[in-house]
Amino acid sequence: MEPIIAGNWKMNMDPAESRTLVQDLMKSVGDIKGRIVILIPPFTSLASVCELTRNTRFKLGAQNMHWERSGAYTGEISGLFLKSLGCEYVVLGHSERRHIMGESDETVNKKLKVALEIGLIPIFCVGETEQERESGATEQVIRRQISEGLKGIENEAHKIVFAYEPVWAIGTGKTATPEQAVAAHKFIRNLLKKPSTILYGGSVKPDNIDTLMKEDEIQGVLVGGASLKADSFARIIKFIQ
Ligand code: PEP
Repeated sequence: MEPIIAGNWKMNMDPAESRTLVQDLMKSVGDIKGRIVILIPPFTSLASVCELTRNTRFKLGAQNMHWERSGAYTGEISGLFLKSLGCEYVVLGHSERRHIMGESDETVNKKLKVALEIGLIPIFCVGETEQERESGATEQVIRRQISEGLKGIENEAHKIVFAYEPVWAIGTGKTATPEQAVAAHKFIRNLLKKPSTILYGGSVKPDNIDTLMKEDEIQGVLVGGASLKADSFARIIKFIQ
């Protein structure tokens, strides 16, 4: 399985900025054989990024979706719309959605179900806060997020890409040590019936990517801040195995 390098641009990059970033990234990266690179712009930049990445090895993902296919849900986005814009992946359960937007395990579960039904590959994020880690609740939190998130779709977990993203490491510059990440990945793997891909996310940068990717347990990374600059994201994509 090829390692996955996914860049979550969060609420950054309007369509024009997205175009420039993709063009610069393509120049910096050159040939990206042996890796799956997923660009995850905001909804409003999906069309621009799709246009530039068509027939290239870059894949497209979205940052969220609604759990219904259509209807009276003002301001929401259907997974079907994402598919029609060329998305193959969708991030679900990101900690910023859980902790800032109040997303629950239950809504993440509904979204995971629909994503699988319509043929989007979910990138399902789980991870503990600093307080939860300090109080020794890391495994309990991850177990809850996974069992609630996968309710009714346990047998389809192998179709999902998991991302272990400790909340204390997201956008903070504090990266989990390879040992901490490996321990969490092993814990997640043991909760799942069939082998699944598990990514690490949390302050991944050019200067820690090689060390993280040396671990067999880490099958790729979900990158936030460092995916917003072509040179740093290109260096991450070209990590040394
Ligand atoms: C993320 O948002 O998923 C993330 C990992 O962010 P950062 O790389 O900035 O910590």
